[in-house]
Amino acid sequence: MNHRFASRISVARWIVLLCLLTAALLLAGCAMEEISPADVQPIEQGETDENEDDYYYTETAEDCWEDEEFDEVDQLCYPVVYCDENGICEEEDYGFLDILFGLVDELAGGVAGGDFEDAAELEENTLITYRVEGNQLVAPELAAVTDDLLDFQADTQAHQKIWVYFARLVPPDQRPYLTKYVVFTDGPEEVLAFVSPDTDDPTKWLLGVDIADTSDPEELTFTLIHEFAHLMTLNSSQVPVDEELALEPDNEELYEEAAAACPVYFPGEGCSEPTSYINAFYERFWADIYEEWSEISWIEDEDEYAAAAEEFYLAREDDFVSDYAATSPEEDIAESFATFVLSPKPTGDTLADEKVAFFYNYPELVKLRAEMNGRLYSRLRRR
Ligand SMILES: [Zn+2]
Repeated sequence: MNHRFASRISVARWIVLLCLLTAALLLAGCAMEEISPADVQPIEQGETDENEDDYYYTETAEDCWEDEEFDEVDQLCYPVVYCDENGICEEEDYGFLDILFGLVDELAGGVAGGDFEDAAELEENTLITYRVEGNQLVAPELAAVTDDLLDFQADTQAHQKIWVYFARLVPPDQRPYLTKYVVFTDGPEEVLAFVSPDTDDPTKWLLGVDIADTSDPEELTFTLIHEFAHLMTLNSSQVPVDEELALEPDNEELYEEAAAACPVYFPGEGCSEPTSYINAFYERFWADIYEEWSEISWIEDEDEYAAAAEEFYLAREDDFVSDYAATSPEEDIAESFATFVLSPKPTGDTLADEKVAFFYNYPELVKLRAEMNGRLYSRLRRR
């Protein structure tokens, strides 16, 4: 898959997290029982869960632990951290942040391999598409698949577990643009997950997860937050959709025209709002290097591109939280945001540290981080 198109072609692009980050998807077996959502307990069926298409299990107030509060909307228990309008939270580490990061570390590498070896040769395959309504998955649409994938397509429980993990991590009011959930596979490794504008309505987005790559919960957790960061930074309130380009995503001339007419950063979906996160991030961290990067992004030959991209990264390793972050401003902000959520506040002074610290300038994001951390903590400590 040609990832560099992610930054230059809008709707056709599949914003992906290729696992360059750690190359740690060693054992991408289909051991779905072992991923964290399966171990979240106790999970009680709520009143609204009678319909078998209703995949979002809920908790009741009785399920909450002593330091947790009950979220009436999501019917979920988690410790709530109060943050003021300036983004100052009641406790810098909420009292549980260190424990949380320890739990995240413990997630790594604890899963045995599965029987997915033959899938290495598979092309990317959509297995099933669900419509998202709030926390619910409805109206599953089965894709035509080869026989060897039928079991994975039919494993709705596994699909559901991944979704529930995501839905509990990311509050529903933060993802009104997400209207479809796609389970696909390209075999182990390669693409773990992606988000993409919905071709039916480019103001809406879909989230895709590779069922063969979900057996490393740490990787899954980081990646789901990374994908959410794309939704957060590229949705139409941040980057109004260029309707014309959305209809012809492969029209390079149109793309160039739209980019040239945009006085601020042009991520591909349209011209970003001047006050958007992505434009602020671009202005601060990418304006000086964009031209150099842009030349690399247009290299057609894959090997030549890979070499140039690596050189670009290695020349400024301390500027990025990961090598994948160096592949575009969009990936950089997504990687930095996931690091912001899953790491202590940086104390160093590298540009990578500054990129993580960038989000502390936004009180609403500090609050969101606290909420996501509380939600994640409540899941992980029930494992
Ligand atoms: Zn990405």
